[in-house]
Amino acid sequence: AFEYAPAPESRDIVDLSPSYGLFIDGEFVDGSAASFKTVNPATEEKLADIAGASSDDVDRAVQAARKAFGGWSALPGSERAKYLFRVARLIQERARELAVLETLDNGKPIRESRDVDLPLVAAHFFYYAGWADKLGHAGFGADPRPLGVAGQVIPWNFPLLMLAWKIAPALACGNTVVLKPAETTPLTALLFAEICVQAGLPPGVVNIVTGAGETGAALVAHPDVNKVAFTGSTEVGRLIARTVAGTDKKLTLELGGKAANIVFEDAAIDQAVEGIVNGIFFNQGHVCCAGSRLLVQESIQDELLTALKRRLGTLRLGDPLDKNTDIGAINSAEQLAKIRALSEIGEQEGAERWSPACELPGKGYWFPPTLFTGVALSHRIAREEIFGPVLSVLTFRTPAEAVEKANNTPYGLSAGIWTEKGSRILWMADRLRAGVVWANTFNRFDPASPFGGYKESGYGREGGLLGLEAYLDV
Ligand code: NAD
Repeated sequence: AFEYAPAPESRDIVDLSPSYGLFIDGEFVDGSAASFKTVNPATEEKLADIAGASSDDVDRAVQAARKAFGGWSALPGSERAKYLFRVARLIQERARELAVLETLDNGKPIRESRDVDLPLVAAHFFYYAGWADKLGHAGFGADPRPLGVAGQVIPWNFPLLMLAWKIAPALACGNTVVLKPAETTPLTALLFAEICVQAGLPPGVVNIVTGAGETGAALVAHPDVNKVAFTGSTEVGRLIARTVAGTDKKLTLELGGKAANIVFEDAAIDQAVEGIVNGIFFNQGHVCCAGSRLLVQESIQDELLTALKRRLGTLRLGDPLDKNTDIGAINSAEQLAKIRALSEIGEQEGAERWSPACELPGKGYWFPPTLFTGVALSHRIAREEIFGPVLSVLTFRTPAEAVEKANNTPYGLSAGIWTEKGSRILWMADRLRAGVVWANTFNRFDPASPFGGYKESGYGREGGLLGLEAYLDV
């Protein structure tokens, strides 16, 4: 039964400009590469024209950050904290506007951008503001130093949250930054630039350069960048590692994942079903730590799948600005093509595909929530990151077999365990090769908790104390 749907969150709350420049040295300026457009993936309508940053523009931005570094790093930590607290409060004040803009540009449901992304974005700025005057007490020696100019490249799945993960710790430690958002979701980073101006942040401390992969490559390769922080695909992460090798730049990489969500026969089934749904269908599955492989104990397979299918039938796919929407749009035509291609491969390899009856809107990029059963570890849908609302179901008999299958992947970002037995949680967590292990929950984040991967999921940690270490000479 569908609930009464109140009016969609109004898009009038955002004041979209027809075109946006680069943000360099505290001002919006023209780019010298070709501009590009960003579209609303739910409707395919153009939202705005975005300036393209050439390598000369990137150089200007890095120079502005270098010029600002002296003053910013010399400020007492308590002064930097004031700026960061101000930014955090402005994010809260403008949260509805930021949430609507994020949903328009990304396609994610407003309920998620409003209730998950934005509160976490503000929380990261508050958390790292709190560290800015305590760096000498963080366990890194009496006087840890900032690294200099940080070049940061982020993906499109959590545009503003990834920005917060990168910019908040960098600034708290006294670095200045040049950040490149993903080409399909630049708008909230540009509104963030406006917030930096509003907060009175000194010019050059934060610079935003928009463009595609070439802009990111120019930033990463720039000789005057001291630290590179990248979140994105393992493929691009490898390219960046090669560029940085042989230089004195520090590097952190947050890459892909193929997490196992492991359900034991003694788990609370209803709770596990909610965790599985949240694990893979949150943000349309565009989540690096998504629980994209369900490992279910054989004895409860039928019961769990029946309950899961029933629950999937209640998910509402549609207008991302509608507060009742559970599943929004796929971020781009390119990503939709990737999800479709891997799903077709899943069928060809012999897995059984299932989706609830679900009508897709005529315009925009959409994919229904999808389950594959009868999946073997060798299937590509069990090994490769699909980065969409597609769950591959595998089974196991013993805890040891669950560990073996969960770890049988080149990735190691996260895992989930569902059981009522505390001792089993600890036994499993000790053996799972994953940066984060959730127990009886999934996709929970906190700025105080470090996040990052093992194996091909990357190296370095963001969040918490370890997130400071990535921006300091200790
Ligand atoms: P992507 O690697 O294609 O792009 C990420 C960013 O890198 C974009 O801003 C892009 O313009 C830029 N880029 C592309 N080529 C570049 C180059 N040669 N040099 C420098 N920059 C370049 O990834 P995507 O498709 O935007 O994002 C999806 C991927 O990100 C998934 O694999 C996902 O798992 C991963 N991800 C990881 C985390 C994490 O914390 N581990 C978080 C979110 C997303």
